[in-house]
Amino acid sequence: MRAVTVTPGVADSLELVEDQPEPAAEEGAILVEALAVGICGTDHEIIAGQYGEAPPGERRLVLGHESLGRVLEDPTGTLQPGDLVAGIVRHPDPVPCPNCAVGEWDMCRNGRYTEHGIKALPGFARERWRLQPRFAVPLDRSLGEVGMLLEPTSIVAKAWDHVERIGHRAEWQPRTVLVTGAGPIGLLAALLGSQRGLAVHVLDLATTGPKPELARALGATYHSTQVDDLDFDPDVVIECTGAPKVVLDVMCKAAPTGIVCLAGVSSGGRTIDFDAGALNRALVLENNVVFGSVNANRRHWDLAAEALRRADPLWLGSLISRRVPVSGYADAYVPGPNDIKVVLEFAV
Ligand code: BGC
Repeated sequence: MRAVTVTPGVADSLELVEDQPEPAAEEGAILVEALAVGICGTDHEIIAGQYGEAPPGERRLVLGHESLGRVLEDPTGTLQPGDLVAGIVRHPDPVPCPNCAVGEWDMCRNGRYTEHGIKALPGFARERWRLQPRFAVPLDRSLGEVGMLLEPTSIVAKAWDHVERIGHRAEWQPRTVLVTGAGPIGLLAALLGSQRGLAVHVLDLATTGPKPELARALGATYHSTQVDDLDFDPDVVIECTGAPKVVLDVMCKAAPTGIVCLAGVSSGGRTIDFDAGALNRALVLENNVVFGSVNANRRHWDLAAEALRRADPLWLGSLISRRVPVSGYADAYVPGPNDIKVVLEFAV
């Protein structure tokens, strides 16, 4: 069968292979026909040879961690043939660490977790894949066109879950959220903010293209200014750019008792001048919290599936800038200037 693969560590080794073996029975009892995978910055990093790891004993890694498929067979009876499903990306480490032992693999302590399409597990950019029931997340039938957005939504569902857990350390009545970066993660974080009834502000450099309208369609206020120029201090910040200056600016901008979730990954290697003492004063004297958030566990995937079910399907559909058939895979992985989410389609 066909699969989109790379050789991790080797730049530009992207290749559509035709002779990928059928998924091994050990991968799980649920056999799934791939419908689509979404493409994100992590895929681009892997293609650039900067990230990613092949399964043990193999040279190539099948890409794809934002999945959408249709169940072909499930002898366990958990799902029915025809059901829409997405596969959870991360599997717990084998030790397991205290977090993985209780299903919190998103908080793995020893780094020995594995991830489909990223780290030591084959991805979902192949015509068929298999899942164990506990890693299979069913999707409402109405999400047939956009279900590959479940994975990025799981990332922001975790971010919001942890913001709220931290918030409840004391009396907490947040009113405003600032989301920095209006890519898919930022816009989905804004969606979850609006579903919580908060006043949502989205900040991004873009003044043209689809981002301003996508934010406004959620009822959010769109800013293309510097963080310092905002005329309010946010109670919650979800930082999705990973841009060093924005990261520092939002830490200083948050309101007293503010919570800043860092969800964007910086590439590193750039230094900027910054007053660490002033940041310390701002955080200590205002009881602020800055924390990082990556990945998601089963609970977050289920919360994300519910958030997508409640969202406007037209708005979700408008996040998808391009749908590329798998035969044109090379184009799909070249970022376009106005792309929000690019999707590679298998069975259509
Ligand atoms: C994925 C996460 C993953 C992270 C680090 C992200 O692109 O969405 O599931 O944990 O990369 O590998």
